[in-house]
Amino acid sequence: MVQAPSCTNNMASWVHEISVWVFDLDNTLYDARTEIFPQIDARMTGYMAGMLGLSWDRANDLRRTYWVEFGATLHGLRQIHGLCPLIFTQNTHDIDYSGLVPCGVTNQFLTKLPGHKMLFTNGPRQHALQVLAQRGMTDIFADMITIEDTDFRPKPDPHGYEHILKQLGVPASQVAMFEDNEQNLLTARSLGLRTLHVGASRLPYWDRRDDHLNGHLEWLHHQLDAQGPTTP
Ligand SMILES: [Mg+2]
Repeated sequence: MVQAPSCTNNMASWVHEISVWVFDLDNTLYDARTEIFPQIDARMTGYMAGMLGLSWDRANDLRRTYWVEFGATLHGLRQIHGLCPLIFTQNTHDIDYSGLVPCGVTNQFLTKLPGHKMLFTNGPRQHALQVLAQRGMTDIFADMITIEDTDFRPKPDPHGYEHILKQLGVPASQVAMFEDNEQNLLTARSLGLRTLHVGASRLPYWDRRDDHLNGHLEWLHHQLDAQGPTTP
């Protein structure tokens, strides 16, 4: 039984209007913190240490700084050092994905969700494909926008969002975005998209029913089931 919403956002009023569901990948569709990000972080740090002639600790600090200031380490390296993004992404995502396994509940919720479902990630395409394959999600998403598709301009830069809206040809109010990064959701909201924040947050103003993706999805299904079939 889904609990009654405890927050005051008027999410129920727009759920039935959504025709496109946009999902971030890392830390939204799966927890990247234990299996994946430590490997990528280590490879990025090693790459930066070699490229810039820095100690490991200094390169690691700089990697974190660029992540915070530019939204992605890659973006900082491009802006400041003129890095070639393709070589960097291929090198730093050459990691072991075997620790990721499917989550049956999540996949059932996602499969059952009506409408167009697409992925929108700051990661490279090969990374997204690997994660989806390991998580058993390959057939769930009809479309995918990765960093290569946004001219290597990562979220929260509006460029990728505008690309998606133009490609879809639907009003922003019919698009809902699941995302763990609050800066990325602020851009979505400023463009008129509906937003669902995944993960713990101290900020009170997100449309949310749960800290976890499955909580959001369960609540959505409850709303959609209660509403019944829509007329075309
Ligand atoms: Mg994320």
